[in-house]
Amino acid sequence: MSKPKVALYWAASCGGCEIAVLDIGDRILPLTEAVDIVFWPCAIDVKYDDVRAMEDGEIDLCLFNGAIRTSENLEMAELMRRKSKILVAYGSCASEGCVIGLANLKDKKDILEGSYITSPAVDNPDRILPQTSSTVPEGELDLPEFYDTLRTLDQVVDVDYYVPGCPPVADQTWAVLTAVLEGNLPEKGSVVGAGTKIVCDECPLDKEEKKISEFKRPHEVIPEPDKCLLEQGIYCAGIGTRAGCEALCPTVGMPCRGCYGPPPGVKDQGAKIISALGSIIDSEDPEVVDRILAQIPNPTSLFYRFSLAHSILRRKTTDGYKD
Ligand code: SF4
Repeated sequence: MSKPKVALYWAASCGGCEIAVLDIGDRILPLTEAVDIVFWPCAIDVKYDDVRAMEDGEIDLCLFNGAIRTSENLEMAELMRRKSKILVAYGSCASEGCVIGLANLKDKKDILEGSYITSPAVDNPDRILPQTSSTVPEGELDLPEFYDTLRTLDQVVDVDYYVPGCPPVADQTWAVLTAVLEGNLPEKGSVVGAGTKIVCDECPLDKEEKKISEFKRPHEVIPEPDKCLLEQGIYCAGIGTRAGCEALCPTVGMPCRGCYGPPPGVKDQGAKIISALGSIIDSEDPEVVDRILAQIPNPTSLFYRFSLAHSILRRKTTDGYKD
């Protein structure tokens, strides 16, 4: 009997999701016995043309990490969708847009100028920007087009399942792999392997009634080790983030960053966090509330740190931007 065919692909992301796959540790050995890995550019030498030559639907499972930032990302998302029976948005970039989705607060022009012209680390007096096509002595060179708007995988193709996290924890990766191998798949569109509550519900730190009269940055305070960080005035996104990571960050004294995205039933994680924070500010005086909230630096980037591209807001409107 032939083994299930598995593909892993890396679009716009940092590469951490690729490492996270290896976090399954010793289980990688029985996995490679049980499946044929037919495409994994990070680890094996299989070309795009090899995938193009496969039959449609020939790949049983594709774990697609990374967002859609360029025309190459889009082309590969459409190709992997066509070639795969099950397409999984694997990790925060593919599912929610992740930190790189905060670039949707800018447009292509701002991003390219910031990276290639105005950055203090760049010396580019001729203001040369990347071109999609350049003529060199050897011929014509092509680069993918960089889009104005970063999109999540399900904003460009049909997605079967989601595995959130930046990166996903190993047990989640294992959950989606075993579900496919055992034919034990949940309802299409499900989030696989993550929790159904919020991070606070998994967090082992002591919680009382939260009332915040002051916010502090993590570097400004040495927190009491066993006490809820938010109650100590340290912004923690656990109040509006899906559980599933076993509260890894708050357990070691770092506030939850929100990488598992919105909890079940919540469309917009940033709005959920704003609403939760609003209910625990220790004042009803609008001036005092404004003063307390002003202590949170760059709130849009904090509340939507992992989910802006998939939120109701999706992006900031700028002059002349295109999707
Ligand atoms: Fe929730 Fe964060 Fe407090 Fe833990 S530290 S209970 S995750 S707000």
